Amino acid sequence: MTMIADNLHAVHARIAQACTQAGRPVDAVRLLAVSKTFGPEAVQQAFDAGQRAFGENYIQEAVEKIATLAHLPLEWHCIGPIQSNKTRLVAEHFQWSHTVDRLKIAQRLSEQRPAHLPPLQVCIQVNVDGGSTKSGMLPEEVLPLARAVATLPRLTLRGLMCIPEPAPDFVAACAVFTKARGLFDALISEGLVLDTLSMGMSADVDAAVASGSTLVRVGSAIFGARSYPAST
Ligand SMILES: *Cc1c(COP(=O)(O)O)cnc(C)c1O
Repeated sequence: MTMIADNLHAVHARIAQACTQAGRPVDAVRLLAVSKTFGPEAVQQAFDAGQRAFGENYIQEAVEKIATLAHLPLEWHCIGPIQSNKTRLVAEHFQWSHTVDRLKIAQRLSEQRPAHLPPLQVCIQVNVDGGSTKSGMLPEEVLPLARAVATLPRLTLRGLMCIPEPAPDFVAACAVFTKARGLFDALISEGLVLDTLSMGMSADVDAAVASGSTLVRVGSAIFGARSYPAST
């Protein structure tokens, strides 16, 4: 087995263990493999080991990779910030976007989604721990945006996504993730039909799953350390 295959098995085992400890079914959490900065060969290796869903931050880089791997049945998720001038690339090349945080971006994605493709699957990014420099809606602003996004014809609203600051320990991580889960459940109580809570990365998968994540975004634990900075 390749290193990537080994790592994928280890991450699946971590997710399964966290599910079991939390009394959740082991298939309650999807794994998104975050392949940013890694080339098509790495994605191919993960594919060969059974992985189908991949997350990318840098849209230009992703579009090239998506074209190179167009012969494989992959599902591509945009998890990086989306500027207005990049919405068309996202609408044309991805199946999912996790980082919708403004109505204007959502409207552009809907307008630009090609008619021959199914609706773009989207999550609203929420700034759940109040970090001032980060993107994402404030929790109290999410409900009106969610209602508006849910009416856009070429988008399907699937849920929420968050990227909390690294927490000092498991308990602190769970406190933040539990807040996100509460917001997700509150939106469902308001009548929105949601099934995806995108939270948890290599360092905090276990806390995220314990707190009710349904999709974890894992990069370095699968592909290894990245050789250039992850932030733009
Ligand atoms: C890079 C990135 C990840 C994966 O991070 P790792 O720590 O490598 O698992 C997940 N989500 C987002 C939004 C990212 O930018």
